[in-house]
Amino acid sequence: MLRGTTIFKCDNCKKKFKGLDIEYNCTSLSNPQKCPYCGSFHTMPSESETFYRSTYETIWKRMDKSGEHEVTCFYEQSKLTESIDECNEWNEQNEESKAAEEEYSERSSKDKLSFLD
Ligand SMILES: [Zn+2]
Repeated sequence: MLRGTTIFKCDNCKKKFKGLDIEYNCTSLSNPQKCPYCGSFHTMPSESETFYRSTYETIWKRMDKSGEHEVTCFYEQSKLTESIDECNEWNEQNEESKAAEEEYSERSSKDKLSFLD
């Protein structure tokens, strides 16, 4: 399922980028997205780094072994197009506005989490 977009961090070049937030095998994890800067798939949502790093390392190993990086599932076309546009727009921004928006999105995702508790 396509949940929208989220900010990823690349483990290879350490840069952040916005990518599609796609459910990883029906879990709350996000499928790693290709880094637009270096092409690596060793990426994870930057907000997950503290708690899920080892989980993503396992996913990266599995992906490297199978050579499969793309998720096969059905996306609503309009939502997909909208989300890709949002990612491209974000990735073309300068570093300062990226940091500002990331701070904002981290705050709102924390709000979401506390709402779930
Ligand atoms: Zn990268």
